[in-house]
Parts: sequence; structure tokens; C-alpha cells
Amino acid sequence: EPETINDLLDRLSEIVPDYPSAGISFKDLTPVFADPQGLRRIVDEIIAPFAGKFDVIAGLEARGFVLAAAAAYATGTGMITIRKAGKLPRAVHRDDYTLEYGTGTLELHRDDIAPGTRVLILDDVLATGGTVGSAARLLGMAGAQVVGIGVVLELQELGGREKLEGLEVHSLQLV
Ligand code: AMP
Repeated sequence: EPETINDLLDRLSEIVPDYPSAGISFKDLTPVFADPQGLRRIVDEIIAPFAGKFDVIAGLEARGFVLAAAAAYATGTGMITIRKAGKLPRAVHRDDYTLEYGTGTLELHRDDIAPGTRVLILDDVLATGGTVGSAARLLGMAGAQVVGIGVVLELQELGGREKLEGLEVHSLQLV
């Protein structure tokens, strides 16, 4: 029988206690990305619920880039890079958001996406939802339509899904 996505993620994900600081249980998906079956399975399954509903895929720096680039290639769409502050060279939309500890800023090139474009946002982990919420606001500033959010892991107790009310969120595994 084929391995379920839950079994695959249990087998390949690494949980690192107290990283990057005490009390944080870091979910490291790099071994999933490094595995030939692992990468293909998570990319295929993350886009499945949104098939036919998007024109382009947005990836969030940095681990979201891995998923979004592979998914865009697999579906014959383009990929939009949403980056941390100061990395994009031309005119940007900018959004400040709250993290578990501190604040962050994301940016999107103003002309990378045309108004009305249907966008799927991909990232590795949904925690508080601050990062994905910020990405959705940036795409809104550009006049794009966010049709969904796909993540590999959803940390349920942090309530990110509630913060993203009104957006269609799919995760491959609840942890
Ligand atoms: P948040 O904005 O709180 O939803 O955090 C999501 C972002 O931070 C994602 O880009 C994740 O890669 C990263 N992240 C937050 N918490 C964790 C965690 N426990 N393990 C791995 N990555 C995390």
C-alpha cells in the first residue's frame, strides 16, 4: 500500500526542541524536501485542493520558495516571490506584521502581478498566521485575488486559521 502523507511526514520531518529559542518546537521540513518521493508527494498534495482555481503561485521566503517553484513548474503557472524587507530591488508594496516574538516586514514587487490575478499562497508551516496574513494583504494591495493558502504543517494550538478568516486554508498535516 502507498504510504499516507501523514506517515511520510512523520517519517521524514525533524522536530527540533528549543530552536531558535527556548520553548519553540521547530518543525524542520528540509529532509522532506531532500527526499525524491517526499518533495513530489508534498507538492502534488498541496496543490490538489486548488486545482484549476489559480493563475499563479506565491511563495514566501524562504521555505515557501521551494514549494511554490516546484508547484508552479508542475502546473505550468508562474511564481511570485514575496520576500523579507530590503531584498527586492524595484518598487514594492510593503506590509508590517506581528510575529510570536517581535515584528516582521514582507514586500512584493508592485508590477510582478496584474490586478485580478488568482493567486495560491504556499508556505511550509502555519503557526500564528501572521506571515501568511501579511502575504495576503500584500497581494490585496496589488489588486490580486487570493484563492487559497496551502501549507505542509499547521500548528493548531496557535490559532492561525482563525486569524485567516475568509481565506481557504488547506494543510497536509495538523500538529
Ligand atoms: P507565523 O507567521 O506565526 O504563522 O509563522 C509562520 C512562519 O514562520 C513560516 O514561514 C514558518 O516557516 C515559520 N515558523 C513559525 N513557527 C515555526 C515552527 N514551530 N517550526 C518551523 N517553522 C516555523
